[in-house]
Amino acid sequence: MRIVMMGKPGSGKGSQAQRLSRRFGLHHLSSGEILRAEIREGTHLGKEVEQYVLRGEIGPERLIAALVLDHIERKGYSEAYILDGFPRTIYQAEALDARYRPDAAILLEVTDEVILERLTGRLSCPNCGSVYNLLDHPPAEAGICDRCGKGLKRRGDDRREAIIQRLEVFRRDAAPVLDHYSESGRLRVVDGSPPAEDVYADIISIL
Ligand code: AMP
Repeated sequence: MRIVMMGKPGSGKGSQAQRLSRRFGLHHLSSGEILRAEIREGTHLGKEVEQYVLRGEIGPERLIAALVLDHIERKGYSEAYILDGFPRTIYQAEALDARYRPDAAILLEVTDEVILERLTGRLSCPNCGSVYNLLDHPPAEAGICDRCGKGLKRRGDDRREAIIQRLEVFRRDAAPVLDHYSESGRLRVVDGSPPAEDVYADIISIL
């Protein structure tokens, strides 16, 4: 099974992808996580994309497409993957179709108000990738990851201005990608605003 998760930043793509990957034995790949790791490690690519990520703008679409496709190939993920954050543009969607055509694209629909509330309270673990929310899913001990005990951080792009920019970018770039999946009968739309367990149950029922 090959699945693509679509939705605004903070719509729950990453959390749902994690659950689905465990349930169906899929390899979870987040393009944002790959880029943040490159930035942390100070690689050439990391330096090239850092400003885009911090400003909430889309990075170089071809470079990132090549990077993600290369990851899928090198790690042997091509038959069973769940992608989150990729594709973000029509170029990337076509590049993915040409190599490893996904079976379904799941869109999580959430209003901008809910997104702003969620993202300004989001904390994540730079070590294991666990995500918390001060509103409805706080860590047991303030600032510490329940899973691995490391210190939690707020993402550099979870600032109000960057969130608003990312929502704008989503509106601009995602529409043709969603049309692309809809026209080929692969788009599944799910309400992403209820609690995560309910969203998960809805996704399972449509898959
Ligand atoms: P995310 O973790 O998916 O919210 O991505 C964080 C940031 O990484 C985005 O705001 C973009 O700057 C960059 N990014 C992630 N995935 C892509 C992609 N597929 N194409 C271009 N830029 C991306």
